[in-house]
Amino acid sequence: MQKKKIPFSPPDISAKEIEEVTDTLKSGWITTGPKVCLFEQKIAEYCNTKNAICLYSATAGLEILLRLLEIKEGDEIITTPYTFAATANVILHTGAKVVFADIHKGGFNINPSEIDNKITEKTKAVITVDFAGCPVEYDKIIQVLEESKQKYNPAANTMQTLLDRPFLISDAAHSFGSSYKGKMVGGIADFTVFSFHAVKNLTTAEGGAITFTNFESAISEEISRNLKLLSLHGQSKDAFSKMKAGGWQYEIVTDGYKYNMTDISAAIGLGQLSRYENELLPKRKAIYEKYVSELSSEQRFILPPFSENDIRYNFHLFPLRIKGISEEQRNEIIKSAAEEGIALNVHFIPLPMHPLYKQLGYKISNYPNAYETFKQEISLPIYTKLSLEDVSRVCDFLKKAIH
Ligand SMILES: *Cc1c(COP(=O)(O)O)cnc(C)c1O
Repeated sequence: MQKKKIPFSPPDISAKEIEEVTDTLKSGWITTGPKVCLFEQKIAEYCNTKNAICLYSATAGLEILLRLLEIKEGDEIITTPYTFAATANVILHTGAKVVFADIHKGGFNINPSEIDNKITEKTKAVITVDFAGCPVEYDKIIQVLEESKQKYNPAANTMQTLLDRPFLISDAAHSFGSSYKGKMVGGIADFTVFSFHAVKNLTTAEGGAITFTNFESAISEEISRNLKLLSLHGQSKDAFSKMKAGGWQYEIVTDGYKYNMTDISAAIGLGQLSRYENELLPKRKAIYEKYVSELSSEQRFILPPFSENDIRYNFHLFPLRIKGISEEQRNEIIKSAAEEGIALNVHFIPLPMHPLYKQLGYKISNYPNAYETFKQEISLPIYTKLSLEDVSRVCDFLKKAIH
């Protein structure tokens, strides 16, 4: 008999999201409009920021941020090798150089002292990644950036005179709902980008948002306006205002992109957000804790190191590692799990291992911690509709697989 399939990360869509989307479809306005506006307000409220700007994806958010910050050829941006391609590909688009700083030994997140080693007078920004939803050491990283002021040449770029140091951009594609030392992710780094892609904790099918902090309020308003311009062809009016009777006039003030979020997506997001704290996060937590209790008896399993006091974790992934395993053995386990109907995954293949980055001259041997973590890593299914019995089935499979 074919065993029941356990997928990796299907979305959790309830009557609430369906109702919101139906309401939008019937409203006569389906692209960027009142639902996006409301979703932006709710995100800002949740993250404790003044503004949020919704977009078609997190990648789109990173693209317009780098444009806003005037990043160009000759500049350098430091980021982690242990991430999805989106984080670094957007840097390549600007012509700036990608500078990788390795992760902590035995961990997942970028090491602040590695960032320190890599800062030069050309460094314009650092893009960190809250791997699996676990916040990076934001205070240490901001301190490194503050202390780099001597090396730094603010006159090179007008945006950078605002803070007089390289910007901190947080790729928080995984960490919506996590917090660090009492502050919600979104309200810590200078700029934060969330993803609402279908596999993330909170989804709009495709979608993303930018939040920002650390700027005085007049500047904040200007940043918000400029990001909106960049997301929609540099048009002085959004489509919703333009469609109102008599509102036909507009001006193009910059060569912006077409990255806006639709009201249909925002409707899904509003439904998800209304269930996030009270339903979706507690369900993820219960699954996570079940994994911990079933797997902790086995010496060879390295459980995720996310239980530090300073952190509220959003249980986005369960990145298990297996001691002493080779890359080939790990791949074999994933293959035999698939034969049992269990979908396992790996986060991430370090960027220097991909053909594109190899061609650009990056070598994985320069990032030994990223490689060591990668070869031991298996991400286990974690999603709200996963039953605790199925969690046990995954654990039983893994225990057998390592013997
Ligand atoms: C998913 C993901 C992205 C990209 O998000 P999109 O919304 O699909 O553009 C970026 N960075 C990381 C770390 C991700 O996991």
